[in-house]
Amino acid sequence: MHRNPSDSYLGQELAPAFFKSIQESAPPSPTKRHTKISVIGTGNVGMAIAQTILTQDLSDELALVDVNPDKLRGEMLDLQHAAAFLPRTKIVASVDYSVTAGSDLCIVTAGARQIVGESRLNLLHRNVSLFSNIIPHLAKYSPDTILMIVSNPVDVLTYVAWKLSGFPSNRVIGSGTNLDSSRFRSLIADHLDVNAQDVQAYIVGEHGDSSVALWSSISVGGVPVLSFLDKQQIPYEKETLENIHQAVIGGAYEVIRLKGYTSWAIGYSAASLARTLLRDQRRIHPVSVLAKGFYGMDEGEVFLSLPAQLGRGGVLGVVNVHLTDEEAQQLRDSAKTILEYQCQLGL
Ligand code: NAD
Repeated sequence: MHRNPSDSYLGQELAPAFFKSIQESAPPSPTKRHTKISVIGTGNVGMAIAQTILTQDLSDELALVDVNPDKLRGEMLDLQHAAAFLPRTKIVASVDYSVTAGSDLCIVTAGARQIVGESRLNLLHRNVSLFSNIIPHLAKYSPDTILMIVSNPVDVLTYVAWKLSGFPSNRVIGSGTNLDSSRFRSLIADHLDVNAQDVQAYIVGEHGDSSVALWSSISVGGVPVLSFLDKQQIPYEKETLENIHQAVIGGAYEVIRLKGYTSWAIGYSAASLARTLLRDQRRIHPVSVLAKGFYGMDEGEVFLSLPAQLGRGGVLGVVNVHLTDEEAQQLRDSAKTILEYQCQLGL
């Protein structure tokens, strides 16, 4: 990023004199692996992710890229001005992708918005052409990076990013239903009056209307909820469960209706994925992965969310959760919905 003369850092010029006596006798700093995250698209979502990464101290360097140079520079300066309140992170920004070179993780949030009356398919075509201007640059400057796609429709665009990058599928993930599952867990927690962190529950499949709630495997504090209710002969309405799932699906629409966009929850969701990946936490997250071969999804190359173990190498494996026949069928239907869109792209 080009700097104005008024931006020059006094510290860089004065540092040798200022620290002379200390530096001569101090042992060299221990070498720690430098980590770098790039965020592409500095809109509402990109900036929520960037600020969560900074406050959670997830990276030594943060690179921002957008097509709008003024907005980009404004966001970079605004974050840099918070340096005194944050863990130390180098923040850089440019419209040129060379700024992303050597990234460990690239998070793509750039996206065109739906125009009134525009079909979902048309929006998808516009986003595909946008991705063909983004993904090859990221792959060129960071050939070993992990790509995390957030832009919508996230499952199809994760497939597009996989194709355009030429990366192995374990290094391309979509943020998928990690966020939907968080909404799901918090609604169940409210219902049972427990802490959402004690609720294990997954939404899988498409990040969207055809998502699948895996009711049969929900547990709270290690207790499988539905079989517990059955054993105790506690009646529950299937409709109540369906309403909770519908509230998850409708959650994003409601926030968008009320404030115009969603940002904070996706910021925390993407940051939690970044932590698991870069710190090799090997946690299980429902994220969009290449689903071919799992749960009977043998036709076509489709990305959708499955509970996947993540670590420094990207996707390490997919958990073999027991699904009821109904859940397995819903998952295959969800794959079909995504494939139908994908097939119209001609990639
Ligand atoms: P926004 O309009 O606020 O920001 C989009 C940004 O992308 C803008 O700053 C724009 O200048 C930039 N951009 C456009 N073309 C670009 C290009 N070629 N290269 C670089 N930058 C480019 O939108 P937003 O609210 O931040 O949402 C971003 C995307 O994230 C949307 O697709 C949205 O649907 C999606 N989203 C996904 C989830 C999820 O869970 N997966 C959640 C929320 C939002």
